[in-house]
Amino acid sequence: MPAAYLDENGDWVKQCSTCKEVQPVAQYYNHTPDYSNDGYKPRCRECTKAKHREENARRAKKRRQQSNKLDKIHVDWIREQKGKLSTRATAKAFSKRFFNMKISNSTVSRIFNNIIHTVPDGEDTMSIYDLLEGASDFSGSVEEYIESKDEKKIKFYRDGRG
Ligand SMILES: [Zn+2]
Repeated sequence: MPAAYLDENGDWVKQCSTCKEVQPVAQYYNHTPDYSNDGYKPRCRECTKAKHREENARRAKKRRQQSNKLDKIHVDWIREQKGKLSTRATAKAFSKRFFNMKISNSTVSRIFNNIIHTVPDGEDTMSIYDLLEGASDFSGSVEEYIESKDEKKIKFYRDGRG
């Protein structure tokens, strides 16, 4: 890593390890002396900030992937693995199958055990999925369709975040 040096004008300058620009040392954050020979970070301030922005964006993306809500297709797929794969193997296979959507072992386990995303039993209730499926055949508006149903019979799946 190039250390700070005096340029031809007698100013302390340093080359950034990322953008390679030679800049006055004031453009660098101080570094713990143990970790650098000149007391400055190897990256200039702008590059340091850019790196943090990038890391924050990456973390935010990861959080978004983790908090993706499960749709019926996901839940059905998970349920199909019951008895074939362990909860852990299912969670792993799930993120491969659904392009890196993450799901926790405990969510899989709770789906396997019908604690969340339970299948409504009996013909007295209908799930939101059945409701939406029926709506596609209905010629009126969605609102009219929902009104045409007995709302007590509509069972909404619980959110499956694990
Ligand atoms: Zn830089």
